[in-house]
Parts: sequence; structure tokens; C-alpha cells
Amino acid sequence: MTGDIQREDHVARQQAVRLRRSAMGLGAYACTLTLVLACYLAGQLPGWVLTAYTLTILFINAVFFLLIRGGWNLRLRRPDMTLEQTLASVVPGLLVIYFVQDALARAGFLLLALVPMAFGILGLNTRRSLLTGLSIYASYVALLGLLAVFEPQRVNPVGDGILLVAFLAAILQISLLGGYINGLRQKLRGKNEALNEALTTIEDLVNHDELTGTYNRRYLLDVIERETQRCSRGAATFTVGIFDVDHFKRVNDTHGHLMGDRVLAAVAAAIDGSVRRIDCFGRYGGEEFLLIMPQTDLHGAGIKADRLRRAVAGLRFEGEGDAGPVAVTISGGIAEYQPGEAFTRTLSRADDALYRAKDEGRNRVVAAGADRNPGAVDDSPRPASANPAGP
Ligand code: GH3
Ligand code: MG
Ligand code: MG
Repeated sequence: MTGDIQREDHVARQQAVRLRRSAMGLGAYACTLTLVLACYLAGQLPGWVLTAYTLTILFINAVFFLLIRGGWNLRLRRPDMTLEQTLASVVPGLLVIYFVQDALARAGFLLLALVPMAFGILGLNTRRSLLTGLSIYASYVALLGLLAVFEPQRVNPVGDGILLVAFLAAILQISLLGGYINGLRQKLRGKNEALNEALTTIEDLVNHDELTGTYNRRYLLDVIERETQRCSRGAATFTVGIFDVDHFKRVNDTHGHLMGDRVLAAVAAAIDGSVRRIDCFGRYGGEEFLLIMPQTDLHGAGIKADRLRRAVAGLRFEGEGDAGPVAVTISGGIAEYQPGEAFTRTLSRADDALYRAKDEGRNRVVAAGADRNPGAVDDSPRPASANPAGP
């Protein structure tokens, strides 16, 4: 569940980065548009090319924006769409290059064609970076070929030839450099992921009990505190249950400490496996367990706690050697949170109820009565206990 939420968070963050990157790309388009405008004003381009260029870049940007915004890119094998965005960004520029009159002005556009390649560095490995660069280069060569065929007077064999060589050299270097930088970024990302995993493991260790794998006291107390705050904001009440294994010392004394450990782990697993997703269960300490039942009143909690008690009583553990199967029972005390009381008070009422369960013969659940003075933290006499479900 938390894993799903973390993954969703990660995807949302990546999508936000992609949108930001697209917005940065829009800035680069704006620079090229300025050059196109300058060429138009200098009489180098017909007006319709300026209009076509503007409409094309708006269209391309709108398509990528909507694809990312609508999450359609997530269906692709490479949702970052760096290759597609880089290639698409040079198409309108090529259109302009074809129509620009002066051969020198073409050089200006070739310079700007290197900018999308620099953007590609953010998401392309060496192979894909080279593929992008060479595709851009091939498109330019094809464009020059078209010019040579249809408007040979606009081609300057020496100047354009030298430009072709320089453009190729620049593209190759940017591609290789891009691939190298991308490799470094991947390594960094790998290290980041390893660090995040380590952090998750540490968080797990901090919140979980080593023997049973269930939540530990520290985490349980945090949850109770959070529940208390939720209740003070008007959320439904919650009930806590403290369970203690009966005569557990005998298990240790008769079957050994290792067997005791196994029994504890199995009892914890049995309870943990049968509580609701919203409940929080863990080891409170020693052979005591705590169950926090949000949105549950004392009556419902009593029924649930007694079901758990019976489930544990039904467990059998194979003893060592001739010793027959081991069975254990648990006693429980439950207390419903009273608005305004400190959560430590709720716990102490549950604890009192647990002691009454022990006094009354064990293997039972006793419910704590409501505190007459919920704000109090002293141990004034408790009202008589209720036992919603005896053994
Ligand atoms: P009661 O019914 O009154 O609760 O009796 P009890 O014997 O369960 O209670 P007591 O407090 O006398 O003994 C608890 C025992 O639980 C003593 C302690 O050694 C054992 N214990 C606590 N933690 C662990 C543990 O992690 N592993 C094992 N094997 N035993 C533990
Ligand atoms: Mg005990
Ligand atoms: Mg105990």
C-alpha cells in the first residue's frame, strides 16, 4: 500500500519534471522564433513561412504538453519522450532553412539546431544521442540536396560544404558528450535509488520489532498519538487493546527460550494476519501486544479482541523431544479513547483492564469503563469492568 503511494508520488514528480522541461524547450523555440522574425524583417523569408513556423511550434508544444498532462506518455516504453521531442523540435527549423534566402543565414539556424541536442543530453544515452544527432544531420543533408536540385543558385558548394563538416563535428561531439553526461546522471540516479532503499530499510528497522516483524512500541505510540489528534479534529473514536500471553514464563521454563520466541512470533503472526488494514498491531514489549482499532467503539473492539483471543487459543506448536504440542492463551484489556483524555490515559485504562482479565482467570478480554474525569492522569479508582465476551 505505502509502496503504491510511493510509486505514484515518484511518477507524479517525474511528470512534473517533464512538464518543466517542455516549458524550458518552449524558451528555446522562442529564441529560434526571434531569428525567424529577424530573417522575415530582413526580407530573407516570405511571411507565410513565419506564420507556418509559429503555428507548427505551437502545435508541437501543445501536443507534447497534452500528452504529458494527460499521462499518455506513460504508456510509452520511454515515457520521457526526449528523442521524440528533440527530433520534432528541428522539423520547423528545417522548413525555415529551406526558404531562407542567404546561405549565411542558414548557418545561424544550424547553430540553433544544436540547442535541442543539448536538451537531449538530459535524457538520452550515447547511442540514442548519436541517433538523434545523425538524424538531424541527415535531414539537413537531404534539405541541402533538395536545394541543390531545385534551387542550385542558392547553394554555395564551398561555404555549405565547410558548414556541413563543421555541423557534423559539432553534432558528433555534443552527442558523445551528452552520452557521457547521461551516463553520469544514470550512475547518480542508481546511487540515489540505493540510498532511498537503504533509508526505507532503516525506517523499517526503526518501526518494526525484530522478533515478530510486527510494529514496535515506538511506532505504535506514534500511531496512537496520531489517532488521538484525528479524534480531536472530529474523526470517529478508536479503541486500543493490550494483549498479554498467559503464563508465558512457563513456556520458556518448560520448552526453552527459543521455543518461547517461536511461540511469540507465531502468536503475533496469527493476530497480525487477522486484523483489518486500518488497524495497527505490534509488539508492545516482552510478551505483550498492542492493537489499535481506528473507527471502532468498545463493543466492536470487544468482539474483535475476543475473536483474536480464541484464534490464539486454537494454535498448537510442536514442542522439542517428548514434550507434547504447546498451546498458549492470551488475556486482553481494551479501552475506548475518551475525547479530551491523554492517550497515555487510554493505554493505562486498557492496562488496568488487562490486569483484571488476569485476576479473573486469564484467557479472556475485559473492557475498561469510561473515565469519569478524562483529563486526569492520576490513578483514581476505575468503574467496574465490562466483559463483552468472556472465554
Ligand atoms: P501472566 O499470565 O501473568 O502474564 O504470566 P507470565 O508468565 O506470562 O508473565 P511474567 O511477566 O511473569 O513473565 C513474562 C515472561 O515473558 C518472562 C520473560 O522471560 C518472557 N519474555 C519476555 N520477552 C521475551 C522474548 O522476547 N522471548 C522469550 N522467549 N520470552 C520472553
Ligand atoms: Mg504474560
Ligand atoms: Mg507481561
